[in-house]
Amino acid sequence: MTTAKSAYRGRFAPSPSGPLHFGSLVAAAGSFLEARTRGGEWLLRMEDVDQPRCSMAAAGEIIRALEALGFAWDGEVVWQSRRTEAYAAALERLKAAGRVFPCGCTRRELADSAIAPDGAAIYPGTCRQGLPEGRAPRAWRIAVGDVRISFDDAIQGRVVSDLASEAGDFILLRADGFYAYQLAMVVDDAEAGITHVVRGADLLASTPRQIFLQQCLGLPTPGYAHLPVAVNAAGEKLSKQTRAAPVDISRPGPALFAALDFLGQRPPPELSRATVAEIWA
Ligand code: GLU
Repeated sequence: MTTAKSAYRGRFAPSPSGPLHFGSLVAAAGSFLEARTRGGEWLLRMEDVDQPRCSMAAAGEIIRALEALGFAWDGEVVWQSRRTEAYAAALERLKAAGRVFPCGCTRRELADSAIAPDGAAIYPGTCRQGLPEGRAPRAWRIAVGDVRISFDDAIQGRVVSDLASEAGDFILLRADGFYAYQLAMVVDDAEAGITHVVRGADLLASTPRQIFLQQCLGLPTPGYAHLPVAVNAAGEKLSKQTRAAPVDISRPGPALFAALDFLGQRPPPELSRATVAEIWA
């Protein structure tokens, strides 16, 4: 499955905290179509790094749904839960470079912090110059300094982010011992040689942090395209939290048709009753 380094390589990276819903199907279809129309590869990665929130049952359901919908991925499925050593090695490199610091703050102590645009607390910097007396390290954070990150998203246009005010010193290793999504995703995309990330715009706020991590680790930055996000009638993003219905894989054709329609692909109406093989063809 190896191709020349310059070849397009995309991926779909669902978090198996619930079954595949329409919002993730849109991200899967968008990234798959983009990879295939560019003659590229398309990889599947299970983002089960947040093990308390993920389950093997949900991962199995997602894989079965993708198969029923006619998706075909290149190579083996990558499981983040099996890649802890790679994340630990990346954190060690950042420690050696003096870019990270242990943090002893509890969630309660950070409750009054400023809130980032994506709803996360912005770290006030308490442990940045060293752990206060008598404090044990709980988590590891990366110091963002006053860096500005900018990139050109293929759909959303130019994005400029001031990390200190929009994210703050973010966590790489959590107090519960699990590596953070931001670190895992960056390490995995680089190792897989991903050249293009196509995903939902709900992740746009994470991208500057990920690019910053790529820069700190000396990893390449892929191209980004953040797709419009499917919302429910109340305007909420479809997710497990908003109780999005799972994709009905007893009728995969109509589900796939709806996703392609959402992506503006204008599938011919007669395909609404077609099989997934006919729709993809
Ligand atoms: N695992 C993330 C999610 O399901 C997606 C990560 C990504 O595509 O970079 O929201």
